[in-house]
Amino acid sequence: YFNSNTVLYLDGKFQNAANTTADIYGQSLHYGYAVFEGIRAYQTHNGTRIFKIREHYERLKKSAELVNMPFPWDINNLIKQTYKLLELNKLKNAYIRPLVYAAPNMSLVAATDVSIMICAWEWGAYLGNQQLKVCVSSYERPNPKSTPIEAKVSGNYVNSILATTEAKRKGFDEALLLDMNGNVAEAPGANIFIEKNGRLYTPPLGNILAGITRATVIELCRILDIELIEKHLTVNDLKHADSAFFCGTATEIAGIAAIDEYQFPVKWNDSVGATIQRTYKCLVLEKQNYEVII
Ligand code: PMP
Repeated sequence: YFNSNTVLYLDGKFQNAANTTADIYGQSLHYGYAVFEGIRAYQTHNGTRIFKIREHYERLKKSAELVNMPFPWDINNLIKQTYKLLELNKLKNAYIRPLVYAAPNMSLVAATDVSIMICAWEWGAYLGNQQLKVCVSSYERPNPKSTPIEAKVSGNYVNSILATTEAKRKGFDEALLLDMNGNVAEAPGANIFIEKNGRLYTPPLGNILAGITRATVIELCRILDIELIEKHLTVNDLKHADSAFFCGTATEIAGIAAIDEYQFPVKWNDSVGATIQRTYKCLVLEKQNYEVII
């Protein structure tokens, strides 16, 4: 993720990543009390563009608010500094990770003193480019009454690590987690859509992270005149679907080959998801001529 020349942004200054230390006595490390973002930059014909950067910083601010953390930073300035960070590290296609964490404090009272760190690195397709073999996880997503599930809180990702590790141990590429009611929720780091009879379905907001890519896919459905239905989905719905895909900033659009023993009958290249995948690529690369590519 970094080498001896890598620079990161910390509380208003750029500094060498290798020489940056974090405090051991803090709520973020001990209790997972931190909020973060995952953002992607793409090399386009207009230079390097950070896809939906404002939406990501707005979600970061909302995440902080949802866990009673202060967010004393100006989003316009964070956007400016993020572009500068890419320039300083000579990154064109990059994954960007802002993290808001607490100053030294070992109590369980919400920290009032916080730092913001932003780092970036070159990162290819997070789940690869193959269609994924997915298993329904034995872990559930956290109940939103226990922790704000719409906030990207570091501690919530213990659940994601457990589910991912279990899936890999069983020989799958990725996990799919259900919510506390047994409905389909999301992957450890991505949202899910299924296709049935030419329509797309996705779980409604409430028990999942409000993915920025999910919102983009919904917008693309409107542009492409694809019928999109937000509703609770059961595992049975999933196992009668024609095709399915995950979406997320790191994942982008990733086709799913099978869930447990059930193989989706429609070939990925013929699926609605594949059309969304091609269009999404055009969008992030700022190519306006979708029709040509589709
Ligand atoms: N769900 C979870 C649990 C995630 O961690 C992510 C990645 N941020 C997503 C969904 C997808 O969100 P986005 O499209 O905003 O990256």
